[in-house]
Amino acid sequence: MSAENVVTRVLDHRRRDPTLLLQILREIQEELDWISPDTAHAVAAGLSIPTTQVDSVVQFYAFLYDQPRGRYRILFSDNITDRMLGSLTLFEHVLKRLKLQRGEVSTDSAVSVDLTSCTGMCDQGPALLVNNRPVTRVTARRVDEICDLVRSDVPLAEWPADFFRVEDNIRRADALLGSRHEPGSGLRAAIALGRQGMLDEMKRSNLRGRGGAGFATAVKWESCRNAPGAERYIVCNADEGEPGTFKDRVLLTSFAERVFEGMAIAGLAVGAAHGLLYMRGEYRYLLEPLKAKLEFMRRDRRLGASICGAQGFDFDIEIHLGAGAYICGEESALIESLEGKPGKPRIRPPFPVTVGYLGKPTVVNNVETLVEATEIALHGGRVFAGQGTRRSAGTKILSVSGDCARPGLYEYSFGVRVEQVLKDCGATDVAAVQISGPSGVCLTPDEFRRHIAFEDVPTAGAFMIFGKERDLFEVARNFAHFFAHESCGFCTPCRVGTTLMRDALDKIADGRGSRYEINELMRLAELLRRTSHCGLGQMAGNPVRDTWLKFRPAYERRLIRGDFDPAVDLDAALTRSREITGRDDAAAHVGAES
Ligand code: SF4
Repeated sequence: MSAENVVTRVLDHRRRDPTLLLQILREIQEELDWISPDTAHAVAAGLSIPTTQVDSVVQFYAFLYDQPRGRYRILFSDNITDRMLGSLTLFEHVLKRLKLQRGEVSTDSAVSVDLTSCTGMCDQGPALLVNNRPVTRVTARRVDEICDLVRSDVPLAEWPADFFRVEDNIRRADALLGSRHEPGSGLRAAIALGRQGMLDEMKRSNLRGRGGAGFATAVKWESCRNAPGAERYIVCNADEGEPGTFKDRVLLTSFAERVFEGMAIAGLAVGAAHGLLYMRGEYRYLLEPLKAKLEFMRRDRRLGASICGAQGFDFDIEIHLGAGAYICGEESALIESLEGKPGKPRIRPPFPVTVGYLGKPTVVNNVETLVEATEIALHGGRVFAGQGTRRSAGTKILSVSGDCARPGLYEYSFGVRVEQVLKDCGATDVAAVQISGPSGVCLTPDEFRRHIAFEDVPTAGAFMIFGKERDLFEVARNFAHFFAHESCGFCTPCRVGTTLMRDALDKIADGRGSRYEINELMRLAELLRRTSHCGLGQMAGNPVRDTWLKFRPAYERRLIRGDFDPAVDLDAALTRSREITGRDDAAAHVGAES
């Protein structure tokens, strides 16, 4: 089919709605491999918007391409835990075998190879994506097989299914992962409670959002319900991009109906008829199974009009895919992205509960939070609040990865000690645990008696373990590269500060760093914390600050110079000026005596 026909078909399918621009571009790219200037122009004309608006979206998202890519696009996950499993060696091996540079497209347009941020497969790394499909537990043999398949131009559909196997790896189940109940029972329980009754149970439960911030879910729901306006939305935030987190992947794989039922229950309590699941682009492979689940639930009258026979309870869900932008996990950036724009965090207030998706009152909840709502509907708020601690009710699912015998999902009552988790997953000789990903906290053995709870060590779920042989400087450097890459560029402190931090750490890694860089890093970390617009920038300095305080020798042994060594060679930079002026005397050189 011609490019023109593809654009027309996708635009028509998407009702030529400019708020669906991101989905339109993503779908067009799936067929045309990239967004050419002609395609961008045709999309803009078809939506009656400026081409610059299309360009701004294409340039913002890492998984949208304004340059041709190979028909096979291989992206290695560049999370620190993938690196610990040898991903960089495998990456170099593939480049060598395919005779390519990083990011380069082969001359026959067949293949390109690059790195990408964490793909959410940390429990079964090293991982990579081939045309958005994950390949896990990659070995040297597996990458050789992939190179052979690419070189023989074998369609992806004919590759061995085993390549694409993704495991759940549920190692410890508690109230949520361990409960099995009849499909629809949570919905029917919520209907029996009624709108106010369900909200009251949510209040009794003390459920706090599982995305990390821990905001009271009932307060969010009630605020949205009471906001002026006739139309409301429930958004499920499945954009889990925090390196080291993969619990939503499992919930969407094996508990999807409960996620959707949780959204419908939120819809009942809030008075919303529309739900949107925003799922990270890395989980593209789950899209068809999830759509099939939605269809099944509609047929089963668990979605659509008069759910479970309850007159007036109408609720349906559509799925939007992200396109490789970590910042879209921030709720206001996610809403921007849902509206087809670059995912830049909004200035708040107003908060989404009053002015959210399309300007309407919107609840944005984490996947795990919504599954918990089904538990609360079934068993009541008091039962839920009876587990965990006084300020952190219920259980928490941890995504455990790194140096341990049994990586995977572990569900515990809130209040579990870090040392208990380490024991259960078979971690020994541990130097540090990074909790809640790069923007979280790095704990050392003297802190392993601390508790996972909002009042002690809060977490969205990531639990990355580093053994004694690991270099924590390199961990911090990996995180600094991640933040510099993922900064959305909206505010200057974060856009510039994360880049300066990355460069200073690279300079130290090169053996050219001094105390000056350390002082600069600490100054930048504080500046970012105080002046950044959103959490990404505010937390970006945490890994460097934590590791400098707790693993100082890892830095000091690299500081081979005590004095200042500028990052720019000023004398070399003046070479051209000397040529133009015809001077090469001592006074024309930086540092020369005049
Ligand atoms: Fe964007 Fe960073 Fe500013 Fe957040 S802090 S709005 S990610 S530039």
